[in-house]
Parts: sequence; structure tokens; C-alpha cells
Amino acid sequence: MKITDIEAIYLRLPQVTTACDGTQDTLLVRVHTDAGLVGYGEVDSCPLVAKAVIEAPLSHQICCGLRDLLKGEDPLAIEALHKKMYEGTIYFGRRGAVRHAMAGVDVALWDLKGKALGQPVYKLLGGPFQKSFKAYASVLFEDTPRATGDLARKLVGEGFRAVKFGWGPMGKDEATDVALVREARKGLGEEADLMVDAGLVYDARTAIRRARQYADFNIFWLEEPLPPDDLDGYRRLSDAVDVRIAAGEQEADVADFERLMDVGGIDVVQPDPARCGISGMFAIGRAAARRNRVVANHTFKSGVSIAASLHVLAALPNAVRFEYCMADSPLRHDLTRQKFPLVDGYVSVPEEPGLGVEVDEAVIEKYRQ
Ligand SMILES: [Mg+2]
Repeated sequence: MKITDIEAIYLRLPQVTTACDGTQDTLLVRVHTDAGLVGYGEVDSCPLVAKAVIEAPLSHQICCGLRDLLKGEDPLAIEALHKKMYEGTIYFGRRGAVRHAMAGVDVALWDLKGKALGQPVYKLLGGPFQKSFKAYASVLFEDTPRATGDLARKLVGEGFRAVKFGWGPMGKDEATDVALVREARKGLGEEADLMVDAGLVYDARTAIRRARQYADFNIFWLEEPLPPDDLDGYRRLSDAVDVRIAAGEQEADVADFERLMDVGGIDVVQPDPARCGISGMFAIGRAAARRNRVVANHTFKSGVSIAASLHVLAALPNAVRFEYCMADSPLRHDLTRQKFPLVDGYVSVPEEPGLGVEVDEAVIEKYRQ
């Protein structure tokens, strides 16, 4: 089997706002083969930058778009293709949008491999350790503590046993921060897990102080209180508090996750398959397992990324929670026919070959740019 083409398809809603919501557009990757099999992947990046990384024609030996690099290659040789993509983009790549574009291609290659072999991806990775995961509703803080509490009550009423609130007004002032978390806990009750995603707003001293304050409300983890490059701050925070510290959604390379754990001392790594690929996310999860740390996915895109996340989590011994994006976007809910229903607070990995999702062509045509 040979790769005949790679498409980078940009999908965008008619209205895109400044809200921190990655479901307003997306970049879908479609890998075609001479066997007629097609694999789907997704990129979570700046979509048109990643699209250019895939479509750019050969410039010279170590500067070439991914499509030209992989045309004619065997799609099942995923590790070998990674080396080719890394070396062929080394002039402009190694990190950032190039890695994100590679991730989208990687997900599509795993989808293809599963379809070619008639197996779900989690089995190809050596799983399952578990096939369903406690899903946390991933939402933004409301504008006020009171409204945040109301949203918490609503989500528990919908069957969630874990909820993460993030970004929004967090970081404005101490009283508001503490009230947001207090009302979230009140709304959830004592049983449900409460995660807090601070959205990069603190310095190390403030983060230490907040982590101690939030500990009174029994939070499951504190996510990204610091900018991703403040490794010294992460180390000071991790050393100072008992609350689990989660981070990693800004990273795409295994070495960068290892640094967050080894230098920053974080407890929960959050790779996104649409930035790290299935291969990278699996390697990151295993690196965490070797250090007795845990892994949860970061996913804020379509059913393609949701499925990719579930397959990797199923193949890891240290997966703790599943991020369930609650954004109200047709790209989140309608791009795949599979809806990943919540059952007793848990979501299960698909059993069909590859990613186990069917992409709706009508949705692609409706939002294609
Ligand atoms: Mg986050």
C-alpha cells in the first residue's frame, strides 16, 4: 500500500469570536492510498499555518511540506515516516505548528493502519488497560461565582461526576478567584471531582497561595496556573503544595513533557493527539508512567480527536480522566456520526477498526473554506 495524497481541509464556522474555544474551526487531515483506504486525522493549531506545512512544495532537502515528503511511502511504517517528516522539515520545524501538522498526519496514519488490519487503534498500541474513562465536563468559568455554581449544578444533573472550570474571570482578584472555586464546589456537591484550569494567569507565589486556598475545596488538580515556560515556577509550586499540578497542552514534543515532569515536577500530563499525534501522546503517557505520574487527554476539537484520545488512554496504565469538551459547535458534535455518549459518568473507546469514527461528508462540505 502506498500514500497517494494528503489533504488538509480547513473547516470554519461562519462566526468566530475571541472566546477561548477551539471548536470554532479545525483542520482535518485526510490521507489517501492506492488501496482505496482513507485515514482521518485532525490538527489543533493555527489551522492555516498547519495547512501550509502540509501543502508546501519541496524547497530543498531539509525544507519540504509533509504531503510531498510522504507521497509514495508505505502508510503502515509510521515510525519511519516520522523520521522522514522530522528530517524533511528540520529547517522550519522541530516544534510548534510543524509538530501539530505532523500530529494530524500521524492520527490519520493510525486510522489507516487500524482499517488496513481490521483492528481498533487501542489494540494496535497494546491495550486495553481500561475501555471506559470517567469523563469530566470541560467548561469555562461563568462571568460570576454564582453563575458558575449554577452551571456546576446543571452538569451534575446531566450525569457528570467530574467537571473542570477554566479561564474566564480567573486571575482578576483573590476574592473572585476563591469565590469561583467555592461556588463551583458548592454546585457540584462533595462527590464529584472538581478540576481548576487557571489559564496561565499567575506567577509562582500567587499560584502557591491559590493552590492552598483551592485545597479547601478538595480540587482534583490545578491546571496551568503558570506560563508554560516558567519551569522554575512549576518546580517551586510543585514542591510547596499537596494539590496535583496538571500541564502540557501547550507542548507537542516528548522531551518537553519530560522537562515539565523532571524540572517542573508536575503530576498530570495533558497531551493532545491533535498536537502530539497518537504516537507522541502514547510515548508521553508511557514517560509519565515510568515516573509514576498520570495522564489525561487535552481535547477541544471534533470527534476525530475525541476518538484518538480514547484509543491512547485505553492503551496506557496511568490514564486518570477523560476531557469531554462541552462546546456547543457543530464541528464538535456533528463532524463524526459517533457521539461518545456519557454512561454513568463514563465514556468508552470505540471498538471499530482504526479510530472507529465515520466522518460526515455533508458537514465537511458545509464548513469547508
Ligand atoms: Mg487547559
